Amino acid sequence: MEDDARTPTEKEHPGPATEGSAPVASSPTTTSAAGTNSSGPLPLRHGHELPYVAAPSSYLRPKPISRTMSDNRASGPLDKEQMQGLRGVREFLKVRTSYDVLPLSFRLVVLDNNLLIKKSLNILIQNGIVSAPLWDSQNSAFAGLLTSTDFINVIQYYCQFPDEIAHIDQFRLSSLRDIERAIGVLPLETVSVHPMRPLYEACRRMLKTRARRIPLVDRDDETGREMVVSVITQYRILKFIAVNNEQYTMLLKKPVQELGLGTYTDLATATMGSSVLDVIHLMVKYNISAVPIIDKDNKVLNLFEAVDVIPCIKGGAYDELSATVGEALSRRAEEFGGIYTCNEDDRLDAIFDTIRKSRVHRLIVVDDDNRLKGIISLSDILKYVLLYGEEDDDIRGN
Ligand code: AMP
Repeated sequence: MEDDARTPTEKEHPGPATEGSAPVASSPTTTSAAGTNSSGPLPLRHGHELPYVAAPSSYLRPKPISRTMSDNRASGPLDKEQMQGLRGVREFLKVRTSYDVLPLSFRLVVLDNNLLIKKSLNILIQNGIVSAPLWDSQNSAFAGLLTSTDFINVIQYYCQFPDEIAHIDQFRLSSLRDIERAIGVLPLETVSVHPMRPLYEACRRMLKTRARRIPLVDRDDETGREMVVSVITQYRILKFIAVNNEQYTMLLKKPVQELGLGTYTDLATATMGSSVLDVIHLMVKYNISAVPIIDKDNKVLNLFEAVDVIPCIKGGAYDELSATVGEALSRRAEEFGGIYTCNEDDRLDAIFDTIRKSRVHRLIVVDDDNRLKGIISLSDILKYVLLYGEEDDDIRGN
């Protein structure tokens, strides 16, 4: 649930909306023992008895490709088709604006910078969102984005200065920059984009700064002051591409292995018995937003995401961070959609099909025995779609 807006209506160009009918991990085809930890099975809540891992392979592999078929290696025509697909998607991103990505109606929760951090956490949880733009009401200006990274920073501060726990409760959102300084992390560059600029520009800016979401900021004609229109995420952009460009994404027939899509070495992993704090340290060290949870045979059991940190510190319960990952995951919301897996032989067109139909934020790459091979994040996909084969494939702003 990393996408911020709960959207009743999705815009499409052309055709009917599809998100409402997304088969979000409802019938897993790959099973694993999510919900167990090294010290025995966790109590499973009603409806969570089945494993959470979903391999949407029924549509992830529209046409199985034989491993020995050198269709991909021999592949002048396949290369051409792939580039044609990429070019089609890039053209689409250049003629659409960020505004086009917004659903017909949506709700935006903006938080005053003066709010206590503790309260902001409750507001996010109550509204079922994981991020919100901040507003500096003194200067009537946009003041950045509150995301799970900020809460991870507060946790790091707590670890470095445990005696400060009484003060942590009194910190306001405006103190987040001081917290960054105190723990020695570089403040994230707050990039924003005008909603009417090409979507391509928003994507390039996100890739350049490694941001997973970008605020759309306009100026009020009368007052000249900034206005936050909305925030768009990598997920929403890729969904928008998938829904509106099937004629191009269907040309992306190369398997992820051949594309080198994702990360396959030096993977950060944890077990059900690891502490939440350990996993948070891994996320900070690797600058990543999710850690696969594996068993002793390297089989994937689950995934701990940065957003899973939020409920862990609800009510200022920082001492609960020593709880195990297994315990933390068992507190996930009932509507948690599951995690998605794919195989190295799966093709990018099939991944786009999955994105079109489901709420996917990353795919764990597994072998036929569900052993971890790699991870494909939305930023990997966005980067490939935007930059592969481009002469200037360094990540410049636009
Ligand atoms: P993300 O944090 O999901 O946007 O991913 C940022 C980059 O880190 C991408 O290139 C991912 O492939 C990679 N990545 C994501 N999760 C992990 C992980 N657990 N271990 C190693 N690399 C990862």
